[in-house]
Amino acid sequence: MRYQSTRGDIKKISGAQAIVSGLSSDGGLFVPESFPGISLKTVTELVRESYSSRAAFIMSLFLDDFSIEELSGYTNAAYNAEHQCGFDRGDTAPLHGTDRSTFFLELWHGPTCAFKDMALQVMPKLLTASLEKTGEKRDVCILVATSGDTGKAALEGFRNIHGTTIIVFYPHRGVSDVQKLQMVSQDGTNVNVIAVDGNFDDAQTGVKVIFNDEELRTKLSDSGYFLSSANSINWGRLVPQVAYYFSAYCDLIKYGKINIGEKINFCVPTGNFGNILAAYYAERMGLPINKLICASNRNDVLTQFINTGVYDKNRPFYTTVSPSMDILVSSNLERLLFELSDKDGKTVASYMSALAADGFYNVPEAAGAELKRIFASGQCSEEDTSKTIGDIFNRYGYLTDTHTAVAYKVLSDYRAITGDGTTAVVVSTASPFKFCESVLEALGLPHNSSGVELIDALSRATGVPVPAPLAELKSKSPRFCKLVATGGMKKAVLDFLGGR
Ligand SMILES: *Cc1c(COP(=O)(O)O)cnc(C)c1O
Repeated sequence: MRYQSTRGDIKKISGAQAIVSGLSSDGGLFVPESFPGISLKTVTELVRESYSSRAAFIMSLFLDDFSIEELSGYTNAAYNAEHQCGFDRGDTAPLHGTDRSTFFLELWHGPTCAFKDMALQVMPKLLTASLEKTGEKRDVCILVATSGDTGKAALEGFRNIHGTTIIVFYPHRGVSDVQKLQMVSQDGTNVNVIAVDGNFDDAQTGVKVIFNDEELRTKLSDSGYFLSSANSINWGRLVPQVAYYFSAYCDLIKYGKINIGEKINFCVPTGNFGNILAAYYAERMGLPINKLICASNRNDVLTQFINTGVYDKNRPFYTTVSPSMDILVSSNLERLLFELSDKDGKTVASYMSALAADGFYNVPEAAGAELKRIFASGQCSEEDTSKTIGDIFNRYGYLTDTHTAVAYKVLSDYRAITGDGTTAVVVSTASPFKFCESVLEALGLPHNSSGVELIDALSRATGVPVPAPLAELKSKSPRFCKLVATGGMKKAVLDFLGGR
């Protein structure tokens, strides 16, 4: 399998090269030149496999420059409870059913209690192996802009990995107390965490500017470093995510909830469009999917795009109770645009320059048709997010976080509007204990504590046990307290690497 840029550079590279590079030199993202097909017979065979075998197999279809043994090594180490790191039970990505046709796919049993662990427990291994395969001798410096969960998951994934350093930038006031403490208390000798005075888009733009700074890259190269990304724009982040869509389907078959070949819906709480894009790729590979429902919070730029074909970021930015979805520029949408444009990079490049110049673009009707074929979308207000957490808990005794609640509400609305009762999987992206304050408030539970103390308060009030990695948090103290303006990000990178 070869990879190419979304913006027209026609050079084709290997999976390992795509993972090492992160971004293409024309500013585009790397995408597979085609989608490997998977037959229903193969899906049936995967039903008896463990999560890590399913994941290694799916990844092997995209990464044919890796052997299945290599990939199984990574997925076994990442996902199996018997191994020291990571996931808290044998069942890596379990389904929780609330009624006959509605299931939550819990993707937060990893070390940081958010779905990003699914990719970031594997991606560092893919990256270091890719460095070896491509003959890269320099150390890699990973730059991450995070809206909260990516930062911690990347820090955990890269912590103490030889030949790598990692710098995480997070928006000063855009993450929860728990997320912040998780990051600033990170241990490891190769890590750095910096607050940016701005929102997530400012941090992300700042990182992109650094990536495109040729002078800086040369300077770093002279001191033995090169820059790469662990954001979901890196192919190594996306490819492990395709696996859990197949795995969820296999589990529905395994437990007799659907028949092989039956189509299902997925509803995905969406921010940077990485998670739902992986679902789209799974569909293109042949996974029986009827609709992919894109769930937005109050920042509903994607919902508007799916409904109208117009992407317009000229709109207010809201800080919400589901901060990992507070995004105006959804990076991974570019990969979908590439498919919607019949893999014509020039068209994608023109959308991206219109977005940069005017803040909006619109896709022609033909592209809109493919969008409508497979995607549906909806938006959930702040008030409804809270109400939904309460409704699900009162009705089913099941506790969800704010992001997952957005998706559940959007699915309910979608079903009410369309009458489509297809078996649906709500992708559950974080443990409710990562967003304690909002969850307690949603349940109408008074609390007079703050920060990490709320974790115990939520557990006491609901009887739901705290995941181990979050229970440990209260004994941790902050290591990192630097705050920079967006203009100061470049200097922060130089200072950190220069001092090593
Ligand atoms: C990152 C994140 C999302 C959004 O995922 P994308 O791949 O950016 O669309 C949703 N929920 C949670 C909890 C997240 O951490």
